[in-house]
Amino acid sequence: MANHVFGPVPSRRLGRSLGVNVVPLKYCNFNCIYCQLGRTRHVINNLRMFYPPEDIIKELEIATRTRNYDYLTFIGDGEPTLYAGLGKLIQWARNNQDKPLAILTNGAKLIDEGIRTWLSELDVVKVSTDAGNEKTFRLINRPHREITFDRFVEGIERFREVFSGQIWTEIMLVQGVNDNEDEIERIGDALSRYRPDRVYMMVPTRPPAESWVKPPTSDVLMNLARVLSRYVNSSRIFIIDYIERGEFHIDRDDPVNSLLSILKIQPMTIDQIMDVIKRNNLDMSILDEIRNSTKEVVFNGIKYLVYSGV
Ligand code: SF4
Repeated sequence: MANHVFGPVPSRRLGRSLGVNVVPLKYCNFNCIYCQLGRTRHVINNLRMFYPPEDIIKELEIATRTRNYDYLTFIGDGEPTLYAGLGKLIQWARNNQDKPLAILTNGAKLIDEGIRTWLSELDVVKVSTDAGNEKTFRLINRPHREITFDRFVEGIERFREVFSGQIWTEIMLVQGVNDNEDEIERIGDALSRYRPDRVYMMVPTRPPAESWVKPPTSDVLMNLARVLSRYVNSSRIFIIDYIERGEFHIDRDDPVNSLLSILKIQPMTIDQIMDVIKRNNLDMSILDEIRNSTKEVVFNGIKYLVYSGV
């Protein structure tokens, strides 16, 4: 059974993304109110060797030879830079396959020089900047107590100085929390410090950790994009307020575990799962098996299956 390498899955930013999940549910140094993985069960800020890197490399050896993908993407059921074996995996990927390498991180560990060295081998480092000051940072990201807003931005700024690849940042906008002009101006100031190559303005499209989290309206979103364009060239700003479209790759010999390894990372709509089943000519009873390890959640009028860890 493939435990760590999944997909490729369609990504709104990375095309067909072959994912490498390096952190178990849910170890993170943030506890974001909008997190699609639910509340953080283990708020930690020190690195751990969650798995032997050799086990993940074994999976990578097969997947990178047999699957068609655009990016190899490091990710976690939490924060991937908390995995002590990450540097070894990045080195392996750099030397043994030729597709670009990306990581989806919140960016808080970039304050550590060792993490900056590891991540400088990548092509794309996607960080998050959802707040422009300490107060909103604590409200929306609820970081580990060791992490302050200033040190967070300083880490990304220092990384910018040594990194020749692309830094993309994501701003997740939550109604009533950070969807106002003042906050976007403060975020714009923070972005001016580390000059991201792209900025994705996102809204929660999957069930969030806190049920009261709502996306802003599209009018508000468009206005905030205009405000942000005073700080970042508008050709670098992308608005993403839709669910991914495209094909999810699964292993037909092990469809249930294959789908569950995707669901561990992101809730899927029931339509997306049905589509995978139909395209692969699989039996619809698979949906029942998937339901045993997931729960159904309705968000924004759409039904999702969310991994429940059973
Ligand atoms: S959204 Fe990312 S950074 Fe935030 S709590 Fe979830 S896994 Fe951690």
